[in-house]
Amino acid sequence: MTIEHQPTQLEQAGSQPLPDADRIAGRFPLEKNTSPADQATYDGIMKDLTFGHRFTDHMAHMAWTPQQGWHDREIIPFRDLTVSPAAAVFHYSQSVFEGLKAYRHEDGSVWTFRPGYNAARINHSAHRLALPQMDREDFVGSLVDYVRADEKWVPDVEGSSLYLRPFMFASEAFLGVHSASRIDYYVIGSPSGPYFVGGFQPVSIWVSRGFHRAGPGGTGSAKAGGNYAASLLPQQLAGEKGFSQVCFLDSYEERYLEELGGMNMFVVMSDGRVCTPELTGVILEGGTRSAICQLLRSQGVDVEEKPIALDDLVSGIQSGAVSEVFACGTAAVVTPIGRLANDDFDVTIPVGPVTEKIYHQLTDIQMGRADDPFNWTYRIC
Ligand SMILES: *Cc1c(COP(=O)(O)O)cnc(C)c1O
Repeated sequence: MTIEHQPTQLEQAGSQPLPDADRIAGRFPLEKNTSPADQATYDGIMKDLTFGHRFTDHMAHMAWTPQQGWHDREIIPFRDLTVSPAAAVFHYSQSVFEGLKAYRHEDGSVWTFRPGYNAARINHSAHRLALPQMDREDFVGSLVDYVRADEKWVPDVEGSSLYLRPFMFASEAFLGVHSASRIDYYVIGSPSGPYFVGGFQPVSIWVSRGFHRAGPGGTGSAKAGGNYAASLLPQQLAGEKGFSQVCFLDSYEERYLEELGGMNMFVVMSDGRVCTPELTGVILEGGTRSAICQLLRSQGVDVEEKPIALDDLVSGIQSGAVSEVFACGTAAVVTPIGRLANDDFDVTIPVGPVTEKIYHQLTDIQMGRADDPFNWTYRIC
């Protein structure tokens, strides 16, 4: 039986129709970079697309104070920032971020995926970190004006995109502990190649015991840099054992799966059901997770959001009741999990057809190769 699924608050806020980009454009006036990358540098970057190392000629910015609200909207040359060493973000980590992609369709147009969802989520994250709320026209407008200024940096190679990184931080120079009264918001972008070169590469996962990225009442459901900071040591230790990622368990019983450091998880049962850890307030509510749940449900697949015990997962993999396990997030879209281990178990899982099908369905929608029944794609230019 398929249970009627209630959209979450983020899904509801994120699916409100947005004005066309032409109507939003121009909120962030352009100060053109007078010394952009020269042709050879540009060609070099676009030929050898890696993730997160190289950036485009411009960035979006706006500032916030309690008196003025958000102001000084601008697109400016990409450059190092001048920030006081006393800025609160360096001491108390008051910052949040987002991650999206701009995709070039075959006809040359540039699109992004569910920007309204990310707009709702940055406000959810900002609320938890005592940072100010922003209008979604400002969030989406910053993406539109930034990408329009740097349109030539959106690659057209299959599987590539311009990765967009909006972020917000407390820049007030004050060492007292309070929520800051000067905030800066930026959007930078990095031209990125396909995550998988030459087909799916399953990742190996070390299940973390003793270390957690977040806990009840903490900041786990916010996209906050501090959660990543907490995941780095377990990640490093797992790397030394030869594993590429870490899976976190609930911090109370260490019994239930939560997520990877930056990706949500799905489990495919051999009877066709698909399960994913429920939203407990500790895990991050991924847009990719949400899209996969909706896509599968629209195809009649039974998607269960529920507690998934590690013991059941391991025994299910051993008995064959579990046929596939995968992780998902904006950067990689979908990543098959090929191995899951800790001191007392070590199981391997084959790459299966459900994982591959979802990957293709999602990327086909994002790239404009398939119908977009949920109105997820948004044309930037
Ligand atoms: C960003 C993120 C995800 C994935 O979210 P998407 O919206 O799908 O990119 C999952 N988990 C964590 C901890 C994240 O920060």
